[in-house]
Amino acid sequence: MILPPPPLLPGQAPVGRAALFLDFDGTLVEIAARPDAVVVPPGLPGLLLRLRAELGGALAVVSGRPLPQLDHFLPVPLAKAGDHGASIRPGPDRLAESPPLPVPPEAWRAQAMALARAHPGMLVEEKTHGFALHYRLAPAAGPLAEALLTGMVADSPFQLLAARMAWEVRPRGPSKASAVRRLMQDPAFAGRVPVFIGDDVTDEEGMDAARAFGGFGWQLQHAFGSPAALRGWLAQAMAHPLATP
Ligand SMILES: [Mg+2]
Repeated sequence: MILPPPPLLPGQAPVGRAALFLDFDGTLVEIAARPDAVVVPPGLPGLLLRLRAELGGALAVVSGRPLPQLDHFLPVPLAKAGDHGASIRPGPDRLAESPPLPVPPEAWRAQAMALARAHPGMLVEEKTHGFALHYRLAPAAGPLAEALLTGMVADSPFQLLAARMAWEVRPRGPSKASAVRRLMQDPAFAGRVPVFIGDDVTDEEGMDAARAFGGFGWQLQHAFGSPAALRGWLAQAMAHPLATP
Protein backbone atom coordinates (compact mmCIF):
# COMPACT_ATOMS: atom_id res chain seq x y z
CA MET A 1 0.00 0.00 0.00
CA ILE A 2 1.13 3.55 -0.62
CA LEU A 3 0.51 6.13 2.08
CA PRO A 4 -0.53 9.58 0.90
CA PRO A 5 1.48 12.50 2.31
CA PRO A 6 0.13 14.06 5.49
CA PRO A 7 -2.22 17.03 5.05
CA LEU A 8 0.28 19.81 5.70
CA LEU A 9 3.10 18.55 3.56
CA PRO A 10 1.67 18.94 0.05
CA GLY A 11 3.97 17.99 -2.75
CA GLN A 12 5.88 15.45 -0.74
CA ALA A 13 6.16 12.16 -2.54
CA PRO A 14 3.74 9.46 -1.48
CA VAL A 15 5.37 6.73 0.52
CA GLY A 16 5.30 3.34 -1.12
CA ARG A 17 6.14 0.15 0.76
CA ALA A 18 5.97 2.08 3.99
CA ALA A 19 6.78 0.83 7.46
CA LEU A 20 4.85 2.82 10.04
CA PHE A 21 6.30 3.68 13.45
CA LEU A 22 3.74 5.39 15.64
CA ASP A 23 4.17 7.00 19.03
CA PHE A 24 1.23 6.47 21.40
CA ASP A 25 0.63 9.35 23.89
CA GLY A 26 -0.05 12.65 22.18
CA THR A 27 0.17 10.97 18.76
CA LEU A 28 -2.38 8.15 18.47
CA VAL A 29 -4.29 9.35 21.53
CA GLU A 30 -4.75 12.75 23.13
CA ILE A 31 -2.58 13.58 26.15
CA ALA A 32 -4.51 13.24 29.40
CA ALA A 33 -4.02 15.01 32.72
CA ARG A 34 -2.60 11.77 34.13
CA PRO A 35 -0.86 8.99 32.17
CA ASP A 36 -3.44 6.42 33.31
CA ALA A 37 -6.33 8.59 32.15
CA VAL A 38 -5.77 8.45 28.38
CA VAL A 39 -8.82 7.53 26.37
CA VAL A 40 -8.37 5.12 23.46
CA PRO A 41 -11.04 5.69 20.81
CA PRO A 42 -12.95 2.43 20.35
CA GLY A 43 -12.03 2.11 16.68
CA LEU A 44 -8.29 2.64 17.09
CA PRO A 45 -7.07 -0.89 17.92
CA GLY A 46 -8.98 -2.35 14.98
CA LEU A 47 -7.73 0.37 12.64
CA LEU A 48 -4.11 -0.34 13.61
CA LEU A 49 -4.65 -4.04 13.08
CA ARG A 50 -6.07 -3.51 9.58
CA LEU A 51 -3.25 -1.11 8.70
CA ARG A 52 -0.72 -3.62 9.93
CA ALA A 53 -2.19 -6.30 7.67
CA GLU A 54 -2.21 -3.86 4.74
CA LEU A 55 1.47 -3.07 5.41
CA GLY A 56 2.53 -6.71 5.55
CA GLY A 57 3.18 -6.51 9.27
CA ALA A 58 5.32 -3.35 9.03
CA LEU A 59 3.58 -1.32 11.74
CA ALA A 60 4.91 -0.73 15.23
CA VAL A 61 3.80 1.36 18.19
CA VAL A 62 6.91 2.94 19.74
CA SER A 63 6.28 4.45 23.16
CA GLY A 64 7.90 5.48 26.40
CA ARG A 65 5.39 3.34 28.25
CA PRO A 66 6.18 -0.19 29.43
CA LEU A 67 4.90 -2.97 27.14
CA PRO A 68 2.22 -4.17 29.62
CA GLN A 69 0.66 -0.69 29.56
CA LEU A 70 0.72 -0.62 25.76
CA ASP A 71 -0.91 -4.06 25.75
CA HIS A 72 -3.54 -2.74 28.16
CA PHE A 73 -4.43 0.27 26.04
CA LEU A 74 -3.98 -1.48 22.67
CA PRO A 75 -5.00 -5.09 23.30
CA VAL A 76 -4.31 -6.19 19.72
CA PRO A 77 -1.40 -8.13 18.21
CA LEU A 78 1.04 -5.50 16.93
CA ALA A 79 4.79 -5.01 17.00
CA LYS A 80 5.44 -2.82 20.05
CA ALA A 81 8.46 -1.07 21.49
CA GLY A 82 8.14 0.14 25.07
CA ASP A 83 10.27 2.00 27.60
CA HIS A 84 11.79 4.19 24.86
CA GLY A 85 13.26 1.21 23.07
CA ALA A 86 14.40 -0.71 26.15
CA SER A 87 11.71 -3.40 25.57
CA ILE A 88 10.88 -4.50 22.03
CA ARG A 89 8.41 -7.12 20.86
CA PRO A 90 9.16 -7.32 17.12
CA GLY A 91 5.90 -9.07 16.25
CA PRO A 92 2.68 -10.13 17.95
CA ASP A 93 3.69 -13.76 18.45
CA ARG A 94 7.25 -12.98 19.51
CA LEU A 95 8.98 -12.70 22.85
CA ALA A 96 9.93 -9.26 24.11
CA GLU A 97 13.62 -8.40 23.93
CA SER A 98 15.09 -6.41 26.80
CA PRO A 99 18.81 -5.77 27.01
CA PRO A 100 20.08 -5.79 30.63
CA LEU A 101 19.90 -2.25 31.98
CA PRO A 102 20.76 -0.56 35.28
CA VAL A 103 18.08 0.26 37.84
CA PRO A 104 18.12 3.74 39.38
CA PRO A 105 19.07 3.90 43.09
CA GLU A 106 16.04 3.70 45.39
CA ALA A 107 17.12 6.98 47.01
CA TRP A 108 16.42 8.82 43.74
CA ARG A 109 12.83 7.67 43.68
CA ALA A 110 12.44 8.62 47.34
CA GLN A 111 13.73 12.14 46.65
CA ALA A 112 11.44 12.49 43.66
CA MET A 113 8.47 11.35 45.77
CA ALA A 114 9.37 13.84 48.47
CA LEU A 115 9.42 16.66 45.91
CA ALA A 116 6.06 15.48 44.54
CA ARG A 117 4.54 15.44 48.03
CA ALA A 118 5.70 19.03 48.56
CA HIS A 119 4.01 20.16 45.33
CA PRO A 120 0.39 18.98 45.09
CA GLY A 121 -0.39 17.83 41.56
CA MET A 122 3.14 16.67 40.85
CA LEU A 123 3.37 12.92 40.46
CA VAL A 124 5.95 10.18 40.06
CA GLU A 125 5.29 7.62 37.35
CA GLU A 126 7.08 4.29 37.64
CA LYS A 127 8.85 3.10 34.51
CA THR A 128 10.45 -0.32 34.04
CA HIS A 129 13.96 1.14 33.96
CA GLY A 130 13.48 4.47 35.71
CA PHE A 131 10.76 6.93 36.60
CA ALA A 132 9.17 10.15 35.41
CA LEU A 133 8.26 13.23 37.39
CA HIS A 134 5.13 14.87 35.96
CA TYR A 135 4.40 18.52 36.66
CA ARG A 136 1.45 19.11 34.32
CA LEU A 137 -0.77 19.78 37.35
CA ALA A 138 1.96 21.77 39.17
CA PRO A 139 3.63 23.73 36.36
CA ALA A 140 5.44 26.18 38.64
CA ALA A 141 7.44 23.30 40.12
CA GLY A 142 8.84 22.17 36.74
CA PRO A 143 12.23 23.90 37.20
CA LEU A 144 12.60 22.39 40.68
CA ALA A 145 12.03 18.93 39.23
CA GLU A 146 14.57 19.57 36.51
CA ALA A 147 17.18 20.82 38.99
CA LEU A 148 16.72 17.84 41.31
CA LEU A 149 16.89 15.23 38.56
CA THR A 150 19.75 16.91 36.68
CA GLY A 151 21.85 16.67 39.82
CA MET A 152 20.94 12.99 40.27
CA VAL A 153 21.88 11.76 36.83
CA ALA A 154 25.17 13.69 36.53
CA ASP A 155 28.07 11.24 36.08
CA SER A 156 25.71 8.26 36.18
CA PRO A 157 24.65 5.67 33.58
CA PHE A 158 21.29 7.49 33.47
CA GLN A 159 20.08 10.47 31.49
CA LEU A 160 17.37 13.06 31.98
CA LEU A 161 14.82 13.37 29.26
CA ALA A 162 12.43 16.26 28.68
CA ALA A 163 8.90 15.04 27.95
CA ARG A 164 5.73 17.10 27.73
CA MET A 165 5.32 18.61 31.24
CA ALA A 166 7.47 15.84 32.69
CA TRP A 167 11.09 14.91 33.26
CA GLU A 168 12.12 11.31 32.89
CA VAL A 169 15.13 9.48 34.31
CA ARG A 170 16.13 6.57 32.09
CA PRO A 171 19.26 4.57 31.25
CA ARG A 172 21.51 5.86 28.53
CA GLY A 173 21.61 3.65 25.45
CA PRO A 174 18.18 2.49 24.31
CA SER A 175 16.08 5.04 22.47
CA LYS A 176 13.30 5.25 19.95
CA ALA A 177 16.12 5.37 17.38
CA SER A 178 17.53 2.03 18.52
CA ALA A 179 13.97 0.62 18.42
CA VAL A 180 13.59 1.72 14.79
CA ARG A 181 16.98 0.27 13.88
CA ARG A 182 16.15 -3.04 15.58
CA LEU A 183 12.74 -3.37 13.97
CA MET A 184 14.08 -2.44 10.52
CA GLN A 185 16.18 -5.62 10.73
CA ASP A 186 13.03 -7.69 11.08
CA PRO A 187 11.74 -9.38 7.90
CA ALA A 188 8.38 -7.58 8.09
CA PHE A 189 10.08 -4.15 8.11
CA ALA A 190 13.35 -4.71 6.23
CA GLY A 191 13.62 -2.93 2.89
CA ARG A 192 10.60 -0.73 3.51
CA VAL A 193 10.50 3.06 3.83
CA PRO A 194 10.12 3.89 7.52
CA VAL A 195 7.72 6.67 8.47
CA PHE A 196 7.99 7.72 12.11
CA ILE A 197 5.18 9.88 13.49
CA GLY A 198 5.44 11.38 16.97
CA ASP A 199 4.82 14.50 19.01
CA ASP A 200 7.63 14.63 21.55
CA VAL A 201 11.34 15.23 22.06
CA THR A 202 12.08 11.49 22.29
CA ASP A 203 10.34 10.95 18.98
CA GLU A 204 12.86 13.14 17.19
CA GLU A 205 15.45 10.38 17.67
CA GLY A 206 13.06 7.92 16.04
CA MET A 207 12.42 10.37 13.21
CA ASP A 208 16.17 10.79 12.62
CA ALA A 209 16.59 7.02 12.54
CA ALA A 210 13.77 6.73 9.99
CA ARG A 211 15.42 9.39 7.82
CA ALA A 212 18.72 7.52 8.02
CA PHE A 213 16.91 4.59 6.34
CA GLY A 214 15.72 6.91 3.56
CA GLY A 215 12.38 7.39 5.29
CA PHE A 216 10.45 10.20 6.90
CA GLY A 217 9.94 11.71 10.32
CA TRP A 218 6.66 13.55 10.68
CA GLN A 219 6.06 15.77 13.67
CA LEU A 220 2.44 15.26 14.72
CA GLN A 221 1.60 18.88 15.47
CA HIS A 222 3.18 20.16 12.27
CA ALA A 223 2.02 17.46 9.86
CA PHE A 224 -1.43 16.67 11.26
CA GLY A 225 -2.28 19.13 14.02
CA SER A 226 -3.85 16.65 16.41
CA PRO A 227 -4.09 12.95 17.23
CA ALA A 228 -7.67 13.00 15.90
CA ALA A 229 -6.41 14.32 12.55
CA LEU A 230 -3.74 11.61 12.42
CA ARG A 231 -6.34 8.94 13.14
CA GLY A 232 -8.47 10.39 10.36
CA TRP A 233 -5.52 10.26 7.98
CA LEU A 234 -4.75 6.65 8.93
CA ALA A 235 -8.38 5.69 8.40
CA GLN A 236 -8.40 7.46 5.05
CA ALA A 237 -5.12 5.79 4.02
CA MET A 238 -6.82 2.52 4.93
CA ALA A 239 -10.02 3.30 3.06
CA HIS A 240 -8.27 4.43 -0.12
CA PRO A 241 -5.08 2.46 -0.54
CA LEU A 242 -3.58 4.03 -3.65
CA ALA A 243 -1.62 0.99 -4.68
CA THR A 244 -0.36 -2.27 -3.34
CA PRO A 245 3.20 -2.94 -4.41
MG1 LIG B 1 4.12 11.19 22.60
